[in-house]
Amino acid sequence: MTIGKKHLPAVAAVIAISLAALAGAQISTTNHDLGFKDTPMLPGLPFHVHDPDRPHPKVVTPSPLPGGPPSDAIVLFDGKDLSKWMAHHSSITRGGGSGDPEWKLENGYVEVVPGTGDLATREKFGDIQLHVEWAAPAEVRGNSQARGNSGVLLMGRYEIQVLDSYDNPTYADGQAGAIYGQWPPLVNPTRKPGEWQAYDILFEAPRFTDNKLVKPAYFTVFLNGVMIHNHQPSMGPMVYRQVAHYEPQPPEDSLVLQNHNSRDRFRNIWVRRLAGYDQPESK
Ligand code: MG
Repeated sequence: MTIGKKHLPAVAAVIAISLAALAGAQISTTNHDLGFKDTPMLPGLPFHVHDPDRPHPKVVTPSPLPGGPPSDAIVLFDGKDLSKWMAHHSSITRGGGSGDPEWKLENGYVEVVPGTGDLATREKFGDIQLHVEWAAPAEVRGNSQARGNSGVLLMGRYEIQVLDSYDNPTYADGQAGAIYGQWPPLVNPTRKPGEWQAYDILFEAPRFTDNKLVKPAYFTVFLNGVMIHNHQPSMGPMVYRQVAHYEPQPPEDSLVLQNHNSRDRFRNIWVRRLAGYDQPESK
């Protein structure tokens, strides 16, 4: 088809009107900023792919400082007071007595005082994200398990070992970062004694049905930002020179810092309770 020059303005007008109509149609039917309802269903889920009705995750404000508590964290120790903690004079699983903590609080950290028992949180937890920083004594004393030994015991039972593991030979499943007595850390990223080290731990509590274990505890752990356990199952509560095994336990229990009579220090301790995907939106 040939279009004479005299027809061009009319053609241009028709094209312009058509484009405007198309644009209008797009505005009314193809604005998918908030999602789609004409997409397939996700397998096993009550949502379409890109479903606009899927709950939006709640907003959490991260800390301005690396390692600091985000807005939804429960701060267990901010360097100023130990009101969230109590002393425990024997293992929780054996029902030890409790009282106020007697560890030394100074300069923004708390230091183990030998012979004063463990520290246990007053609040009890199940599945959590935990951040805790620790330092082994700067002055090296003893060797192997006697050098800077402490521990972070999830639910008072499942220990991630704290030890001065900087050039300190000991058994692999007892060095810093080990799921004590079970799994050594995948690598050893510990800093020198006296320097601050950071654990970031994801812990999934074991599940029991009718007093039978149906899901073991799982650990995912970072030491100084380096992954040392990747969703690793625990064989059971920490034991020494034995094979761990599970026994029925409460769904939540205290977080415990171990007193192994080494003057380790702790600071900046916070947890977040873990929840699954697609929680209801809260306004
Ligand atoms: Mg220990």
